Amino acid sequence: MMQNDIERVLFSREELAQKTNELGQQLSVEYKEKNPLVVGILKGATPFLSDLVKEMDIYLEMDFMDVSSYGGGITSSGEVKILKDLDTNVEGRDLLIVEDIIDSGRTLSYLVEMFRYRKAKSVKIVTLLDKPEGRVVEMKADYVGFLVPNEFVVGYGLDYDERYRNLPYIGILKPEIYQ
Ligand code: 5GP
Ligand code: MG
Ligand code: MG
Repeated sequence: MMQNDIERVLFSREELAQKTNELGQQLSVEYKEKNPLVVGILKGATPFLSDLVKEMDIYLEMDFMDVSSYGGGITSSGEVKILKDLDTNVEGRDLLIVEDIIDSGRTLSYLVEMFRYRKAKSVKIVTLLDKPEGRVVEMKADYVGFLVPNEFVVGYGLDYDERYRNLPYIGILKPEIYQ
């Protein structure tokens, strides 16, 4: 079974639900009158985004982008490529980017710059996880769920070679899985 591949649980289903609820409440206050465009970064952010927006009792719109900075493995390639762009014109819109994790910071710094160029009115970031030790470029999220150590984590959207996104919690894989 899939869950036998997990060495250690970092954040349980209950902790994730609690945090998502907290963030949703805060974001509802900030975006109450703004009809924000919530931008999910595929595929990793989808479980988090899905839970987050259900905690936001305000008008909002959702759209998705797919960008790649990682290949199938566990180290960053350093490149950012748009695989799927938004359907929505962001000019004049308040954007809330929803990410699963910030590591090097390359993906988000690229996206933030691109949205500014496209004349978004504001661009903020909510990330479930932040791995500050991985930073290569400067990048700070406006809202962070949890800080994580410099380890490769999976679950709740985060994959290893496209697997484990459907784990209901966040954990660390047993080393033999990627050896
Ligand atoms: P960054 O551009 O900040 O280096 O990369 C962010 C992306 O890299 C994340 O959206 C995620 O897809 C991937 N990533 C970074 N760290 C991890 C990790 O620990 N586990 C997994 N599964 N993906 C990660
Ligand atoms: Mg991602
Ligand atoms: Mg990945």
